[in-house]
Amino acid sequence: MNAFDDRVALITGAGSGIGRAMALAFAKAGARVVVSDIDRARAEESAALIGAEALAVTADVGDQASVAALVEAAIGAYGRVDVLCNNAGILDSMALPADITPEIWERVIRVNLTGAFLVTHAVLPHMLRQGRGAIVNTASEAGIRGGAAGAAYTASKHGVVGLTKSVAWAYAKDGIRCNAILPGPTMTNIAAGAAFDPAGAARLSPVLALGELMAQPEQMADAALYLASDAASFVNGAIVPVDGGWSAG
Ligand code: NAD
Repeated sequence: MNAFDDRVALITGAGSGIGRAMALAFAKAGARVVVSDIDRARAEESAALIGAEALAVTADVGDQASVAALVEAAIGAYGRVDVLCNNAGILDSMALPADITPEIWERVIRVNLTGAFLVTHAVLPHMLRQGRGAIVNTASEAGIRGGAAGAAYTASKHGVVGLTKSVAWAYAKDGIRCNAILPGPTMTNIAAGAAFDPAGAARLSPVLALGELMAQPEQMADAALYLASDAASFVNGAIVPVDGGWSAG
């Protein structure tokens, strides 16, 4: 018997990095996994790595219609969603508050914060019907401090922390738990698509130059697996740093 036998896990941003590691970890623990990403090829690659019990769905978490189609596909295929990992996210340009462009602000808030809200909003009715559910949000160290990223990313991840607490508080009585992990710097592809603002990046580089504290995506997946599991049955609304101790210093 595996911890997630008979359970369905829906993971966003599962085509790369932390999300892919989560998809593989939940599948290994017995779950049927809905592997969702805005990038079709990446989603399909993750599903192929899992094998049989995985469904790849292309979806933009920042788009309500796309999210509705994603949750419909998950329910259509498996009839339920037991675990939701709101993991899709993008980095900002590392720009400081005076320098950030409204376009980057809008996009980062839309994907990182509104995206987590939209998927949660679409999945909650199913979890309420089931009388059970576990949500794990991938926030960031930037969700609790001001100097770990640019203004947009920092604001978006503080928002994810607030959303986590709101959902945890609202639905504890309904058997639904919601927690967040705060990854420290992790080896993924997230920096690849970001065009850094040199002034902001230079200001932040001392905090980011933490070679020995760089995590592997699997270490984030392990934390998410715990928070979504019955071993964490009374853990609700927790904001959990997974950073090797960085935030403790
Ligand atoms: P990654 O770039 O390797 O993976 C992110 C995935 O999300 C990609 O496959 C991408 O295609 C997908 N994605 C982007 N926009 C999307 C959208 N609108 N809809 C659906 N999917 C979308 O990055 P990662 O580091 O694995 O990031 C995962 C999460 O971890 C993010 O929320 C990120 O903010 C958070 N995080 C990462 C780090 C780090 O150091 N890597 C640190 C703290 C928090």
